[in-house]
Formats: sequence, C-alpha cells, structure tokens
Amino acid sequence: MLKYIPTKIALSVFDINYNELYANGKRIILFDLDNTLISYYEDEPNDKLIELGNMLLSIGFKVFVLSNNKGNRIMKFMSKFPATGAGYLMKKPFKSKIIKFLNLNGIHSFEEIIMIGDQLVTDVLCANNVGVDSILVKSISRESEKFYTVINRLREPLIIKRFAKHNKEYANQILEIIKKEKKHG
Ligand SMILES: [Mg+2]
Repeated sequence: MLKYIPTKIALSVFDINYNELYANGKRIILFDLDNTLISYYEDEPNDKLIELGNMLLSIGFKVFVLSNNKGNRIMKFMSKFPATGAGYLMKKPFKSKIIKFLNLNGIHSFEEIIMIGDQLVTDVLCANNVGVDSILVKSISRESEKFYTVINRLREPLIIKRFAKHNKEYANQILEIIKKEKKHG
C-alpha cells in the first residue's frame, strides 16, 4: 500500500516550489500529461503552462512529458510546450518502458528524478516501481476522465484509508488532493 503513496503533494503543477526541488538535487522532471498539465478538453498548452516550461528549463531542469496516451495527442501538445522531450504509450504504472526511455536519454541517476502526476494507481505507483520521488497533484478536471481512469479512481480512497493507519495527517492531505470536487452552478 505504501507503493501508492507520493513523496509530496501539491494542488497543481503551478503550486510546486521548483527552486527548492533543484536545491535538493532534482534535475529531471517527468510530467504526466492528461489532467496534470492539460485536461482532456484541451490539446495544447496555454500561455501560463508555456511560461512554466520555459521557467523550468531556465532553472536547469530537463523536462519530459511521459504519457500513457497516444502519440498524436502528445506530439500536438509538445509542438507548443517548451520541454526536453516526451514519450507516449508509456504503460504506467509498469516500469519497463519508463526505464528504457530514461536509459535512451542518458539518465541514470534516479535520485535526480521527480515524477509529477495526478493518479495514485498510475503515476505514483509507477514512480515507486521505478524508484523515484513523486508529487501528486490535483486532477485538472475529473469530469472528462475515461472509463479506465474512473475505475482506477475507485481504488484510491480505499488505498488511502488503509494508509491512514500509518500516517493519518498525510492520508487526510492526500484525500483532499484526490477527492472529486462537486460541480458548481
Ligand atoms: Mg493523468
């Protein structure tokens, strides 16, 4: 169950202290795409996201977008997003394609990597399978999730409920991140 627990949590990719990550030795950022950087309703980064990408590169990070989604969606996004590279059909939470990708890109110091995503049973589990630190962020829009994601989501509260026996405070903080917001209006 601890393999589903992120190293840290944040409300969004804009609420992460990247300078602190860099100061703590992180050099490689592996972003999830769907509902972490953009919702399913979007296919391109907005100005704020482009600014973030530029900022991360200027700090000195290598920035990669690694998604389970198909190549055409990733390529469309990457044509506007400033980053070092991207991978699609990555089969998270399984580690083999991710490790192959890292090796191909000359990345061997896993302690320099931070993986950032919105799902416990894909992104966070994958980070723990690979053996790298992770940050769980709130999903941009839960309304647009596909059926397999909805099924994955059903497991999240059960995982965290069990984790609460180890660390109730952190479990409650994670619950706030994964809970589905009620629609307004
Ligand atoms: Mg996602």
